[in-house]
Amino acid sequence: MNLFEAVKENVSPRQVADYYGIDVRNDMVSCLFHDERTPSMKLYDDHFYCFGCSKHGDVTDMVGELFEISPKEAAEKIAHDFGISYDKQYGEYKPSKDSVIAVARHAKSEKRKNAE
Ligand SMILES: [Zn+2]
Repeated sequence: MNLFEAVKENVSPRQVADYYGIDVRNDMVSCLFHDERTPSMKLYDDHFYCFGCSKHGDVTDMVGELFEISPKEAAEKIAHDFGISYDKQYGEYKPSKDSVIAVARHAKSEKRKNAE
């Protein structure tokens, strides 16, 4: 399971709205994507839909818009804020032995060794 799946499976748009302080009335909230006086964005179990501007998406879209961050950052934020553990392999940067960084480090330590 990757981060996006883990987040979508564990957190509903409603939970996101409650957690981040969005006013929910009868499953409706004021749209995050367009200005409006009467809430027309409906929250479903696994997605949202705005009857005003037709915008739809999932919790990562909501949080991404709310905090002006990318969907990936939003997914990471939700995972962090809601304490969701996910497959850590996702998005993790692991330099291989032959990576540029590893080679440079190795060269440096060899130099140091020779200098001693
Ligand atoms: Zn809208």
